[in-house]
Amino acid sequence: MPGTVRSVRVVLLGPPGSGKGTQAARISSRYGIPAISTGRLLDTEIAAGTPLGRRAESFVRAGELVPDDLVLDLVASRLFGARAAAVLDHVPAGTVVAAAGTGSRAAGTGTAVAEAAVTPVPDVCSGFLLDGFPRTLAQAEAFDARFAAAGCALDVVLDLDVDESTVLARIARRSRDESRLDDDEETARRRLKVFAERTAPLRAYYAARGILRTIDGSGTPDEVAGRIDAVLRSLPDHRH
Ligand code: AMP
Repeated sequence: MPGTVRSVRVVLLGPPGSGKGTQAARISSRYGIPAISTGRLLDTEIAAGTPLGRRAESFVRAGELVPDDLVLDLVASRLFGARAAAVLDHVPAGTVVAAAGTGSRAAGTGTAVAEAAVTPVPDVCSGFLLDGFPRTLAQAEAFDARFAAAGCALDVVLDLDVDESTVLARIARRSRDESRLDDDEETARRRLKVFAERTAPLRAYYAARGILRTIDGSGTPDEVAGRIDAVLRSLPDHRH
């Protein structure tokens, strides 16, 4: 039943093509927490031609990581609402995203929601899902230093475990079905290599903090969602 897990702060880890976006949307709907995808935030900046977008574009196109300072600025803006153009990638209908006594509601799916800009810190920290962030140790450490210290500590990091051939097949299918900046095969391989070198070390970082949970990412989206659900429901302090 929706709403039985609340206030959970989740990171979705996993290589490109592991199904993070699909699962992020499901978790967001099911638990009423906003999903924040740095990949999508970057796409929005690039499409809008903002200074940040212009700095980020060549990295995204090449399958490289965007510099940490840019990504941290984006996440801070989204979480702490410094920017009016905060983007919620997926907010379930009826979810209160901007409290501040106004009770504003976002009913969109994938639209920019300006009210989120006034979301106060405690509300933001009451639950969110980060999809595709952090991707480097420096990002993870900066997040802990800036946000965990402000009462936004992560509860769980879900590591979607999918083998490389499955990931490449999924990326190939996606590049036929969607138009992304970075889904040709060479770039896809580059992104996988970057994941292995820069992002995979986060597993040890979060395992050492006792919050890493490995999820078998094979099978249908429903099967994977069921495994995630079991983990989220087993977390202490998040049940009603
Ligand atoms: P995604 O949609 O999460 O696969 O992200 C698409 C691209 O955006 C990545 O290949 C990177 O170029 C960039 N990107 C997204 N998130 C981050 C991040 N946390 N750090 C650096 N670059 C990122």
